[in-house]
Formats: sequence, structure tokens, C-alpha cells
Amino acid sequence: KAERLMAINKHDYYRENKNIAAEKVPLLRELLGSIVKKEFLVYLQPKLHVKTGQIDSAEVLVRYREKDGSIVSPFKFVPLLESEGLISYIDFFVMEEACRLLTKWKNTSLSDMKLALNFSRITLFDDHFFENFCKIFGKYDLKPDQLELEITETQETLNKKQMAYLLKQLKNYGFCIALDDFGVEYSSYEFLMMASFDILKIDKGIIQKYQKSDKGDILVKHIIQMSHAIGIQCCAEGVETEEQFEFMKKAGCDYIQGYLIDKPAAAGQFEAKYIK
Ligand code: C2E
Ligand code: MG
Ligand code: MG
Ligand code: MG
Repeated sequence: KAERLMAINKHDYYRENKNIAAEKVPLLRELLGSIVKKEFLVYLQPKLHVKTGQIDSAEVLVRYREKDGSIVSPFKFVPLLESEGLISYIDFFVMEEACRLLTKWKNTSLSDMKLALNFSRITLFDDHFFENFCKIFGKYDLKPDQLELEITETQETLNKKQMAYLLKQLKNYGFCIALDDFGVEYSSYEFLMMASFDILKIDKGIIQKYQKSDKGDILVKHIIQMSHAIGIQCCAEGVETEEQFEFMKKAGCDYIQGYLIDKPAAAGQFEAKYIK
């Protein structure tokens, strides 16, 4: 699809997709070219396991490198690729990169690392998602619990039955699933009950905006207690200060992710730092 769209000239593309803001057309074309040429790359951000003090997992975050070498955040292009139905190319590209890295790390100190991948709801709702996912996974000799799928509930998560079925399939196979961005925008208790999630990720918005207040502290503590009560581990996202870290630790949070531990970095940098 990317190649086909590339062939359409800018004018035609714009005419056929009137809903795309004119200023976004050049970016979209660049992104399409990049998908074809695979000019995306992955960054890794470690997650600290509080109890053991170990970095035993990391989140894989996509980046796009512009011609001048500058790195573009996914906030700038993920929504655009989602609206064009192209995000699955990126999600599966990131998955391949993760599988490749885990394979490369087999005989290193990172051999037991778990990598967390973000999957857009658009990718997840493709009828062939599970099949494609397993096909890629099957190319590598890895344990399924080395991969964690981070899933966000959104307003458009309409087909609950289909989502519940997919999550069950993933769990049965042995993959881990995480509920991402919990506590902001669309995240319901119902969604939480839909599958046996392994991890609940408290969104950084909750931690950064509300944690300073008494009410916010109570809220965070309750989210952690609630997830533990139903057998789910908690990860706090966006922890930037010692104060937030101490609070999370005290509240019993299982995983800490944030700039305080480390910023997301290119795979090579991550390896240099964490392979002992
Ligand atoms: P997310 O999954 O909630 O990822 C966490 C975001 O918080 C990342 O932003 C990360 O860099 C940032 N972050 C981590 N610690 C801190 C902190 O201490 N302070 C602050 N201010 N930010 C922190 P990033 O890498 O820009 O990614 C943004 C979003 O893009 C992700 O949010 C995720 O929803 C999406 N995304 C990233 N990679 C992929 C991908 O491969 N596929 C899809 N579909 N979406 C992706
Ligand atoms: Mg995530
Ligand atoms: Mg998140
Ligand atoms: Mg988030």
C-alpha cells in the first residue's frame, strides 16, 4: 500500500484525501517513502524492577529520522499513519527490531530481557493481526514471555468482543500484555476486566499532574492497590524526580520507568550502557 500511495502524485493524493490538512501532505509523503526505505529506528527505555533493583525490561519506542538527521517523535507521525491505515507497517517493523535485538542479546547479560511493544488499535483490529504477529515471532527462537504488548484503550475501541478474544489468544500463547496509559482519556474499569493483563501502566499525566496533591497521592496508591488485588503488576511511567520515585516505591509500585532511571536511547547506546 505504501508503494502504491507513493506513486500517486501530491496533487492527486491531496484531492482524493480532502480530509488531510494541506500542511500534512509533505510529511505523509516523506513517511511513506521512509516506510518503503525503512528509515525508522527504535529507541529503548529501561524499566526498573523495584523489588530486585534490576533493569529486566525495556519499552521499545519508534523514532523517525529526518534527512538532516534530526529525530522526530512518534506524537508527530503515529496519528497520521493511523488515519492512513499505515501504522501496522511501523508496529511490525518495531516488533522485528525487538526480536532481532533479543536474538542478538542471547548470550549476553541481557539474555532475559523483556521488550515491550506499542501496538496501535488499528494494527490490533486487522483480521490477520494474530496470524502476522505469530508469523514474525516464529522466525526467531525466543520465548513468548520476552515480548509484552502495550495496549491503550481508546474511544474507538468499539469491538470489545474482538479485542477480548485477541487478548486471550495472545495470553494463551504466552505473550505478556500491558494496559498502557491507564488513568487518562479513555480508560475504563471494564477494559481492565476484559483480559488478564500482566501489567498496568499508570500514565505519566497522572504522575506528573496529580501526584503532588494529597488527592493525587491517594489516587495513585489506590490504582496500585487495586491492580495488585486483581493480580496485575503496576508500572509508573514518566517518573522524573527522586520524590516521585520514593513515593512510587512506598506505594508498592512494581516497575518504574522515566527520565530519572533513563531516557529512551538508540539501541546501540542502550547496549553500551546495559550489556555488562
Ligand atoms: P507511551 O507508550 O505512553 O510511551 C511513553 C512515552 O513517555 C514515550 O514517549 C517516552 O519517551 C515518554 N517518557 C518516558 N519517561 C518520561 C519522563 O520521565 N518524562 C517525560 N516527559 N516523558 C517520558 P515517546 O517515545 O515520544 O512516544 C510517545 C507515544 O507514541 C507512546 O506513548 C506510544 O503511544 C506511541 N508509540 C511509540 N512507539 C510506538 C510504536 O512502535 N507503535 C505505535 N503504534 N505507537 C508508538
Ligand atoms: Mg507504551
Ligand atoms: Mg505508556
Ligand atoms: Mg503514555
